[in-house]
Amino acid sequence: MNEPRIISFGCRLNAYESEAMAEHARTAGLGDTIIINSCAVTAEAVRQARQAVRKARRENPGARIIVTGCAAQTDPQGFSAMAEVDHVIGNEEKLRPATFAGLAAAEPSERILVNDIMSVRETAPHLVTGFGSRARAYVQIQNGCDHRCTFCIIPYGRGNSRSVPAGVVVDQIRKLAEQGFREVVLTGVDITAYGADLPGELTLGRLVAKILKLVPELPRLRLSSIDTIEADAPLMRALAEEERLMPHLHLSLQAGDDMILKRMKRRHSRAHAVAFCAEARRLRPDIVFGADIIAGFPTESEDMFANSLRMVEECGLTFLHVFPFSPRPGTPAARMPQLDRREVKERAQRLRRVGKSALDAYLQSCRGRSIEVLMEKGNVGRTPQFTEMTLDEPAASGRLIAASVTGYESGRLTGTVLP
Ligand code: SF4
Repeated sequence: MNEPRIISFGCRLNAYESEAMAEHARTAGLGDTIIINSCAVTAEAVRQARQAVRKARRENPGARIIVTGCAAQTDPQGFSAMAEVDHVIGNEEKLRPATFAGLAAAEPSERILVNDIMSVRETAPHLVTGFGSRARAYVQIQNGCDHRCTFCIIPYGRGNSRSVPAGVVVDQIRKLAEQGFREVVLTGVDITAYGADLPGELTLGRLVAKILKLVPELPRLRLSSIDTIEADAPLMRALAEEERLMPHLHLSLQAGDDMILKRMKRRHSRAHAVAFCAEARRLRPDIVFGADIIAGFPTESEDMFANSLRMVEECGLTFLHVFPFSPRPGTPAARMPQLDRREVKERAQRLRRVGKSALDAYLQSCRGRSIEVLMEKGNVGRTPQFTEMTLDEPAASGRLIAASVTGYESGRLTGTVLP
């Protein structure tokens, strides 16, 4: 009987949950099973999930095929209608060991196991180790989102914001550090909303301070993606004072024009984003920013787009994740007047070009620096700024190595190991 296989799409949270599902499926003794953990962030992501279902059935005629994740949560009937599919399970059900025990039972479970995700009030913590690498572990601290950005389907796939109790998070991280993990990434959907649903005055910044205080043996703590407008004072203090909090923030900016931000129902303004980056850099001069930016949002004029292009330099962004706007059925932005697809694609390319120049300029500025690298595989690892780096000799995954930067190539630093 073959081990259950998971095909994971989308975000780190999905990757994290795929590891949890793999453990539940193994424990339940689910063999000859393929689980597709789908994403719904773009129409393309949903198309890829459906394609993966058809391919899995073609290549494994006898296997049981289960679809879960945000595409399944937001359109269970659509996936259930596919002849290739045996079961559709929801985003909350996929994290319950009982779901997999039910699927393994003699009497097959219902075809669709998807509840109303908006009714979910708690997020079940899972200790997941490894992700196939000894370098870094991801810890889910939060799930869902209370915001309703007009382009986004995520709240309908993941429900409202809910946080994992701080004690549970600290315990998990302590266990991971005991197992030798040198870096932990705090992940979720909207992690800057952390704690709002928990008793007491908990925030992301307070959680970070608690983790660093209670797990002194952890060398590196990293944040997945933050919403600048929700970054609290304790977080900024930790950024300034805590060397172990990595100087790398991925920002959910989405656009650089105030009218477009308003039409997206984002909570920050262009001026706020620029001021946030300047303040974070004042507090932590070696900081590097990544950012998500959408190109070609409905009604975006050439001038409005130019504001997004200029924001790259004004915020000092280095790692750009560029998304050509993709209308998601059921979202308000899908009902707005759309730009021509060619225009959307062309703007995305222009933004990527600006992003590449910004990255090259940053990599160039690193020449000659001494830097600590967390090894991932062979002679490749990542710096505190999350920049990939190729060293002149390999080292074990999970080791922290002191290195000197000698140059860069295809978006990666190159360097030599220091004695
Ligand atoms: S903050 Fe906005 S973009 Fe992010 S998950 Fe929530 S609704 Fe989506």
